[in-house]
Order: sequence, then C-alpha cells, then structure tokens
Amino acid sequence: MQHKRSASTPILVLLVAVTAGLLLCGTNGCSGSGGTTMTRSWDGPINGKAVFRHVEKLVGFGPRPSGSKALEHTVQYIQSEIEKLGLRLERQEFSIEEAPGITFRNLYCVIPGTDEQKRTLVVSAHYDTKKTEGHPKPEQNFRFVGAMDGATGPALLIELAKALKDRKNVPTIYLVWFDGEESIPYDWPEDGIGSPLALIGSRKFAQWMMAEKIFPKVMVLYDLVGSKDFKLDRDTFSNKSLQDMFAETAAEMGQGERMYEYAQSHLIDDHRMFLEHGDGAVRVIDLIDFRYRTDAKYDRMQHGDKSGIPPEGTYVRWWHTPEDDLHNVDPVALDFCGNLLLKTLPKIEAKYYR
Ligand SMILES: [Zn+2]
Repeated sequence: MQHKRSASTPILVLLVAVTAGLLLCGTNGCSGSGGTTMTRSWDGPINGKAVFRHVEKLVGFGPRPSGSKALEHTVQYIQSEIEKLGLRLERQEFSIEEAPGITFRNLYCVIPGTDEQKRTLVVSAHYDTKKTEGHPKPEQNFRFVGAMDGATGPALLIELAKALKDRKNVPTIYLVWFDGEESIPYDWPEDGIGSPLALIGSRKFAQWMMAEKIFPKVMVLYDLVGSKDFKLDRDTFSNKSLQDMFAETAAEMGQGERMYEYAQSHLIDDHRMFLEHGDGAVRVIDLIDFRYRTDAKYDRMQHGDKSGIPPEGTYVRWWHTPEDDLHNVDPVALDFCGNLLLKTLPKIEAKYYR
C-alpha cells in the first residue's frame, strides 16, 4: 500500500484528487490515500503537535527493543523532559532468568493528589519496540521503529505529566512507562499472559505495587494510539463502566464515532497484569486501536459482537510492519487521546475517588 503526506502534495495534484473524488472531506477530517486525519472539535490543554514532537524524537532513536542502546537514549530523553517540568522520574531496573543479558527499566513519575486516603490511579504505556532482528525467518527481520507501537503512548505520558502537575488531582497519579511489553520471541507466546517472555515490565510493576500495598482503583493504558483513521477498540478485558465513561466524553468532544465502532477485541496487553495481580480490584481500561491494524487474516477472529466489519481499505494495516512509522501518525488524534483522558478524569474521580 502506498502512502502520501498531504503536506507535501502539490496543490495541482490535490485539485486533481478532489475532482477525481479521491480526497473526501467531512466533519471529522479529510481522507486521502494515506488515511483520514481528524479535525479538532474540542479544546483542552494537550497539544497534539507537542506530543508529535516527542514521537518524532523517539522514532528518531531508531528501533528500540528492550536492552538496546536506543532504548537507553529513550530513557534519557523521557527523564530530561520530566525533569524540565520539575518532576522526578523513578527507575525500576530488573532482569529475568528467561531473558539473560537484558536489563529492563520501568520508569514512573508520581504526582501527589489531594485524597486523604492516598488512593492512586495509574496512567501507562509501553516504550519498548518489537525486536525485528536476529530471528530465524527472513520475514521476521526488518527495520521497525514503532511509531504507534512504542512512541505515541510514551509521548502522550510526557504531555500528560505537564497537564496533570498543574491540575488539582484527587488520586495520586502514577505515570508509568513500561519496558518489555513486546515478546522476546518474534511470535507472541501462546499464553501471552502466563508466559514470562512478554508483558515483562507491567508484570513486574503490578507485582511491585501490590507488594507495596499500593492498589490503584483505576489503571489506564494507552497502546497503538494516534494513527490516521483513528478509532478505539472495545476490549473485552477492560472495565465496562470506564469504557462507557470514555465513550460519553468522546461524544461530548464530537468524536463519538471513534469509539468502539466495530466488533469487540480480546486483547493481551499490559493492563492484564493489573487484573491478574490486583485480584480483580483494579479497574483497567486499554485505550487501543488494534484490531483492524493487523493483517486481514485476523478479521476472522470474532469475539463478542459480530456485527459490523469496516469497509475494505478503511484502515492502514501497520501493526508490526514497517508501515508503523511517522507518516501514519496524526497529531490531532494524539491531541484527542490526551484530552479525552483529562476530560474523563473528573468523572472517574466522582465515581471512584469520592
Ligand atoms: Zn507491538
């Protein structure tokens, strides 16, 4: 599939495209050959362009698998951005027997809240990228920089830190950057939740929180967000009330159709570790755009609601391919994702932190 940057498209070509019906603009943005970009129909402190600049920076470090030099550069970048805000970035370093020679690093930043009971909320994303070198099959080896899968989530957390430190938060907020989300073997282990070779950082962090008796009432995870033609999946493991709250906010922002439009997804992701280790007491939500980003063969994996399949060609299938790069990122979608959380937070506080 070919993709074009509309910014670099000459006007004449654009006119021809419009005449030919190839460029379609509606209330939610314009659709070209590279996917639909959103139009900002909301206000809020998160600036998508600022988030995008962090994404550019992270992608610029190149492939960033666990234990790589490029991931160390990523850590330094996140640290300097957080320290610029006058906040402190903590590191949780560890290794596991099953992956000798790799030092994993979870990063976190604590923003104290006003709650007398010191209740907590986690906002998180993984910042490692899938390792796509040194694998046995030729098709498993390619350059993978993980824009949506490893950069947009961590970039959003930086801008959220900026907004949250100036907000009067009820819960104490843990912003967490997970290492080792991606599986060590190329193919995800059959039992992704039970296997020690995937979801490594979130497993460690959830276990640590529970051991410290820090039981977050809510855990929000960003993964694979911010692409063109952005939409969120209804993950079957996420808390239904939380999903409804986010959907209500999205509708208030004029973007209701971005939420849960198609059949449900059954996701193996970092949020599952908080379900596993939190004895079901942690309400989790995975804000993820996954299902129709995968190879078309996964479309047959139906779970729950079987109604509605997006029209062919609606979604760029960039997941775990070289297509997951900057030209598929939409800064306005990032703006939406950040402000969506900030606008949902008062509802979360009213319901769970009264
Ligand atoms: Zn991935």
